[in-house]
Amino acid sequence: MRLKVLGAYGASDAEHNLTGYLIDDWFAVDAGTLTSKLSFAQQARVQAVFITHAHADHTRDLPHLIQNRFSLNGPPLTLFATREVMDQLSTHIFNGIHWPDFSTIPNPATSKPAVHYRALTPGKRITFGDIALTAINVHHQIPAAGVILEMNGQAMVFTGDTGPTNDIWKRTNKTDKVVAVVTEASFPNDQQRLADETAHLTPQTFGDELKKIVADAPIYASHRKIPFERDIESQIRNLRDRRARVLLEKNYTL
Ligand SMILES: [Zn+2]
Ligand SMILES: [Zn+2]
Repeated sequence: MRLKVLGAYGASDAEHNLTGYLIDDWFAVDAGTLTSKLSFAQQARVQAVFITHAHADHTRDLPHLIQNRFSLNGPPLTLFATREVMDQLSTHIFNGIHWPDFSTIPNPATSKPAVHYRALTPGKRITFGDIALTAINVHHQIPAAGVILEMNGQAMVFTGDTGPTNDIWKRTNKTDKVVAVVTEASFPNDQQRLADETAHLTPQTFGDELKKIVADAPIYASHRKIPFERDIESQIRNLRDRRARVLLEKNYTL
């Protein structure tokens, strides 16, 4: 599996990008950064996006991806999210004020809308093309779910934003051939209280989550807040777990 990390931060500036991942060039997880780092041709190859939760740093580029899809006259983009998250996307983003609801607007050239919504039941594994996906609820300020993706006999796990959680690790531990886990460490250890109150992890609690995972695979901390990126990196290193890494904005082959 190829993982293109378009954005690996919980904040943005000229050199750091919001959460957005692309797997094998066609399946995206979160949309904080998609259109801003992909050409029109690359966007045209994206067939589906899984959204972990409705926060702006995970959805910023989604309206633009859908609008570009409309201009491209291509097949509809499939938008996956759990039912709860999908309801929030409809209410707060595709509400006709923040952005139109493109799922109800047929493209004159294709007679099809630019996007198709697929609401998922947490814990239920479904297939889409060559991929199987299972959304699992995690612990965040608003409804949020991670996803386990299985493709070509390998699996990758993305939690999105989360504080300490259990269900996704139980399911991860029952999944064969996990080649990578992408979770988060938003704040440094001295901001543990803020992390707890906002349902995020620090390197310390990231380390506790690691102990719940049996897979011998790299476990990446994403979503660092920019001013603390170096502190977080050194605290992750100090965990002395060889699986623990910080996620970088680059291409990984797993
Ligand atoms: Zn976030
Ligand atoms: Zn969030």
